[in-house]
Amino acid sequence: MKLTWKTKAEKETRSLAARLGSLLHPGDIVTLSGDLGAGKTTFTKALAAALGVTRTVNSPTFTIIKEYEGRCPFYHMDAYRLDDSMEELGLEEYTDGEGVLVIEWPEMIEDQLPEDRLSLHLAYTGETTREIYAEAAGRRYEALLEEWKKA
Ligand code: ADP
Ligand code: MG
Repeated sequence: MKLTWKTKAEKETRSLAARLGSLLHPGDIVTLSGDLGAGKTTFTKALAAALGVTRTVNSPTFTIIKEYEGRCPFYHMDAYRLDDSMEELGLEEYTDGEGVLVIEWPEMIEDQLPEDRLSLHLAYTGETTREIYAEAAGRRYEALLEEWKKA
């Protein structure tokens, strides 16, 4: 299943992300692809806030994955700076059902990602406009996308 949203301002992207965040369960994986400046981190921050994360979410610089406390653990991974994409990251540690995992630049580690996930792609369409494409793989994510559409 696939869906597309168009947002006309950052706050619309934030509100879309917040609605998704409120629907996420421990064990869920969401990936965010798109060029620099497309809005991946903006989306992640609003999603995290809706998950109850109160600390400021910044892109991990030196570490690849940062962990935050919300309603459940929230793991934010940015694979952009990964210099060896073949490095075993042991993602199972983060996808064992305890927390929610959001990954920016999933294309860097495609081989290590589970097939079942919610894949989002953000595209810059103008200074304040973006298109957000969502594709769900697997039953959990089909259901999640259905709920998100209604939310
Ligand atoms: P990325 O993580 O993809 O590199 P960021 O989230 O860091 O992107 O940056 C996106 C930038 O685009 C922010 O400065 C944000 O304010 C701006 N922006 C403008 N319009 C939008 C929109 N509709 N949705 C998301 N971000 C937007
Ligand atoms: Mg970013």
